[in-house]
Amino acid sequence: MTSSIEVLAEEEVLAEEVALGGEAHGPDPLEDIARRLLLEIGEDPQRDGLRDTPRRFARWWREFTQHDPGSVDTVFETTASGSLVAVSGIDVWSLCEHHLLPFSCRVTIGYLPREHILGLSKFARVAHQHAHRLQSQEQLTQDIADDIEKLTGSPDVAVIGRGEHLCMAMRGVRTPATMTTAVWRGALKDTGLRQELTALTGDNRH
Ligand SMILES: [Zn+2]
Repeated sequence: MTSSIEVLAEEEVLAEEVALGGEAHGPDPLEDIARRLLLEIGEDPQRDGLRDTPRRFARWWREFTQHDPGSVDTVFETTASGSLVAVSGIDVWSLCEHHLLPFSCRVTIGYLPREHILGLSKFARVAHQHAHRLQSQEQLTQDIADDIEKLTGSPDVAVIGRGEHLCMAMRGVRTPATMTTAVWRGALKDTGLRQELTALTGDNRH
C-alpha cells in the first residue's frame, strides 16, 4: 500500500510541474541522456514502465547534486577547551565517482575544541554537504575534516568513515563491501587520543 501511495504522490508532483510551466525552458538535458542510456542497454524508453523514467532520472540527479544542507557555521564560545568532543552515527549517502553508484557511509567526527565548539546538528550537515556529489570515500572523509578544522578553528580533528559501496557489494560475496577510511590530524594523531575516540564511539568494534 505504501509504495502505491508514493508513486501517486510522485505522479502528482510531475503533473504539477507541467501545470506550473516546468517545461517552459525545455526538457532537462539529463532526460535525453537517460533515454540514450536506456536504448544502449537494450530497453525501449517508450514502454509503460519507462515512459516517465528519464524525467524521474533527471529530477533525481538535480535534487541529489543541488542538495542544500542548511546553515553549517553556527559556533559557540567554549570554556571547556581541551576535552575531546565526538559525534558518531552520522549516516550519509554519496555517489562513487568511479561507477556513479551509491555508497552509504557512517561517519564519526572528533575534535579538541579551542575557542569554538560547533553546534551538534552542524556535524551532520557538513557530512551531508560533502556527500551530495560524486565522491570517493577517502576524499569525503578529508573534505569533512577540512570543514571541521575551518569551522572550529581547531587543527585537532579526526574523521572516520565506514562505507558500504554498491559497486563492490553488487559484484558478489567475494568482494569485501565495507571500507573504512580515517583522517587523524594534529593532536588526534596521538595513539592515546585515537584510542579514546574509537572507544567512545564504538569505532574500535569490528
Ligand atoms: Zn565504485
